[in-house]
Amino acid sequence: MIAKQSLLDFDRQQLADVCQSIDVPTSHANTIYGKVFRYGQLDVENTVNVPKKLLAWLDENTEIHLPEIISQQQSEDNTQKLLLRMDDKRDVESVIIPGAGRITQCISSQVGCAIGCEFCLTATGGLTRNLTTAEMMSEVFIAHRVLGEYPRNLVLMGMGEPLHNYEHVAKFVRMVTDERGMAFSPRRVTISTAGLVPAIYRMLEDDLPCSLAISLNATTNEVRNQIMPINLKYPLESLLKAMQDYVAVRNRKRILVEYVLLAGINDSEEDAKRLVDLVKPLNSTVNVLPFNPFPGSKYQRPSDEVVDMFSKHLNDAGLVAVIRRSKGREISAACGQLKTEVNERAVQLLAKRSAKA
Ligand code: SF4
Repeated sequence: MIAKQSLLDFDRQQLADVCQSIDVPTSHANTIYGKVFRYGQLDVENTVNVPKKLLAWLDENTEIHLPEIISQQQSEDNTQKLLLRMDDKRDVESVIIPGAGRITQCISSQVGCAIGCEFCLTATGGLTRNLTTAEMMSEVFIAHRVLGEYPRNLVLMGMGEPLHNYEHVAKFVRMVTDERGMAFSPRRVTISTAGLVPAIYRMLEDDLPCSLAISLNATTNEVRNQIMPINLKYPLESLLKAMQDYVAVRNRKRILVEYVLLAGINDSEEDAKRLVDLVKPLNSTVNVLPFNPFPGSKYQRPSDEVVDMFSKHLNDAGLVAVIRRSKGREISAACGQLKTEVNERAVQLLAKRSAKA
């Protein structure tokens, strides 16, 4: 038996192609697409005013499976961490973060991650596989079920490096921003990358309708090489050049810069000064994220005084710097802490790394 394709993998054009192939007016693609993606109604078989021929084709060739919610943890600040089991029994996490009038969902794009940032719990297990577009869409549908509506913002900052899974992520971005579907504003969909420079240029060439965030975390190659091995391949100079080119082509659209503060590593006044020099020409907003230690991590969280000093320095220099005292800390839903479990292997691996350092 041929496996059915997930209907959540079909964009509007693909549905129109289906209509054309079975000789049904392509306008019916909009009806099906709107029902599923705009209103979150997944019972396609009951769609009225659509030719039976199209419904029969969809029934025969497609299916919709949402992942199972394996666990749902809620922190004191109402951040919810959902552990989702995909059809092949692989688990990923998706986090729903409350905010004043705007709920943000942090989407995972891979099972695990190959990038190997030293401060990141997700990195400890390596990469298992990419998520498909349908699986990422299903994360949003799960949020819709939990919240009774779609979240306001989507940030691809969960498990995985989104630009390492470019094809599926690009299609996801186009689908969630389709005005006949979920209709997220491109400003409210953000891809966060550790710095895959060629893929940043590809985003530009493809004119991907979304915002960009760069996980920078260091102001010298020496430190960035140490905490983010991707810097050995794409050093700061090439990353900053890509950021400048992005801003220039995107008509001075701002890039969000994320900076995880690690005590004694990248949190000095000199670091703050260098950060100003690096990002001020880009007019970037900086998210200052004090590190949240997890069992086995070799880095520490800076004191509140250091965090305040660091961001004050950025603000005094005219940058917009926001301290994100990560929500959901007690349920490990904070930045760089998504992993299905803090397992023995991860802790041993981190202990080994610390011993080597
Ligand atoms: S911080 Fe992001 S890119 Fe780096 S290892 Fe973790 S998930 Fe991957």
